[in-house]
Amino acid sequence: MAEARSAVVTGGNKGVGLGACRLLARAGVRVALTARDPDRGAASRRTLAKEGLDVLFHPLDVTDGESVARLAEWAQKELGGPDILINNAAILLDRERLGLDVGIDSVRETMETNLYGPLRLCQALAPGMKRRRYGRIVNVSSWFGGLEGMEGGYPGYRISKTCLNALTCILAAELRGGDILVNAACPGWVRTDMGGRSAPRSPEEGADTPVWLALLPKGGPTGGFFQDRKPHPW
Ligand code: NAP
Repeated sequence: MAEARSAVVTGGNKGVGLGACRLLARAGVRVALTARDPDRGAASRRTLAKEGLDVLFHPLDVTDGESVARLAEWAQKELGGPDILINNAAILLDRERLGLDVGIDSVRETMETNLYGPLRLCQALAPGMKRRRYGRIVNVSSWFGGLEGMEGGYPGYRISKTCLNALTCILAAELRGGDILVNAACPGWVRTDMGGRSAPRSPEEGADTPVWLALLPKGGPTGGFFQDRKPHPW
C-alpha cells in the first residue's frame, strides 16, 4: 500500500484530537473520530461537516476493553481495519500534586487512560496492520514524560507518559519488518482544556507532528519521539 487511507483517532471530540481529525480529513484520509461521549463526538463531527470535512463517528472509551473490542470490529467492517491509529486521549488529574502526596488511586486512574488505553487500542488494531503489512501508530505523549530533565509535580501524568514512550519503543521493535511505523509525538503546549488558554499553539498546530507521523512514507522513522517534526530527547 502506498499511502494511508483510513484512521482512528481517540479523544477526537476536542483539542489536539479534533485538530488531528481535521488535518487528516483535509489530507483525504477517511477518519473515524472517536469519543467517549456520543453527544460530544456527534457535535464535533457536525463541526467538521460544516467545514466540508466528512468524518465517521464511533463511541470509544479507551478504559473499557469491550468498548475497544466493539470499535475494532466496527473499524474492520467500515474501514477494512484502520491504516492509522492516533492514541491521543488522555487525562491530567494531578496538576496540584507532588510525588509524595499524590493518591495512588489517581495515579492508577491516569495509567488506565494514558497508558493502558493506548495499549488496548494497539492490541486490538495492530494485528490487522500486521496482516495487511501496513500501519502507522502515533502515541501522543508529552515532554512531561521525558526522563531527560524530568522535574517534580504532575506525578501520575508524567509517569503515564514516560511509560507510553516505553510502550512506543517496545511496539516499534516488535512490529519492525512490515511497513508498520510506531512513534511518539509531543504536540507542544497547546490551547485546549488540558493546556489552558495561555498556551501559544492552536489545536491544529499541536496536531501537526502527530499527523505528520501518521502520514509517514515507507521507510520513515519508527521507535522515535518527535516534536515539531524533529527528534525529541527521551
Ligand atoms: P483535552 O483537550 O483535555 O482532550 C482530551 C481528550 O481525551 C478529550 O477528547 C477527552 O474526552 C478524551 N478522553 C479522556 N479520557 C478518555 C477516555 N477514557 N476514553 C476516550 N477519550 C477520553 O487534551 P489535549 O490538550 O487535546 O491533549 C491531547 C493529547 O495531547 C493528550 O495525550 C495530552 O496528554 C497531550 N498533550 C497536550 C498538551 C497541551 O498543552 N494541551 C501538551 C503535551 C501533551 P472528553 O471530552 O469526554 O473528556
